[in-house]
Amino acid sequence: MKAKRTGLTLCGFYILVFGLFLLGTLLGNKAVTVIAEISPITRSNRIVIDAGHGGEDGGTTSCTGKLESSFNLEIALRLDDLFHLLGYDTVMIRTTDTSVYTKGGTIAQKKISDLKERVRMVNSTPGALLVSIHQNHFSDSRYSGPQVFYADNPESEKLAKCLQSQLVSSLCPGNNRREKKSVGVYLMDQIQCTGVLVECGFLSNSQEESLLRQAEYQKKLVCVIAASVSGFLANT
Ligand SMILES: [Zn+2]
Repeated sequence: MKAKRTGLTLCGFYILVFGLFLLGTLLGNKAVTVIAEISPITRSNRIVIDAGHGGEDGGTTSCTGKLESSFNLEIALRLDDLFHLLGYDTVMIRTTDTSVYTKGGTIAQKKISDLKERVRMVNSTPGALLVSIHQNHFSDSRYSGPQVFYADNPESEKLAKCLQSQLVSSLCPGNNRREKKSVGVYLMDQIQCTGVLVECGFLSNSQEESLLRQAEYQKKLVCVIAASVSGFLANT
């Protein structure tokens, strides 16, 4: 009974957000204000948004030569805006094209410092929920589609399942990519809270890379992520 009610509430919320998102593309910022006024939820959680890589560490490179770190930052900044409009407090791991290391001489030392600093920022935030933004790359350019990786705890898995299914149904219906437990990613291994790492798409696939460069596609992507996280928090 409770599950049924929850399902309807979530479904309604998604429809509402997507309806307003579409309206927003036609009417500009007016519709976004409406989302902020009517969205539900107690907001004791703080959303930690991690734009992967940055500075000397560009991550992977897209098929047109754009660095992953740039895609990650653009999407993370949009996500930050949307979470604010929904009334959430956020913590941005980075807001510019920089690494977040606090000390270190060699590139390897800076990389280690950067990783530890990201973990420290997440674990020192009360009520943290981590959303880490990355882009995928593979030698075979056929592969496409977003994929959600989750930290090794039941809540993260629950969020990842919901987010993966919403990303696929909203952005690439028919794609059979599934959520996966994160293995060997330092940040995801070390956090002590609910956390997901979203590989938004494959920069090695020219069609998907072209979409990921577009502002409208990025807005749709962050709308799905924010709605899924918000729905998850409303029901936990
Ligand atoms: Zn990455």
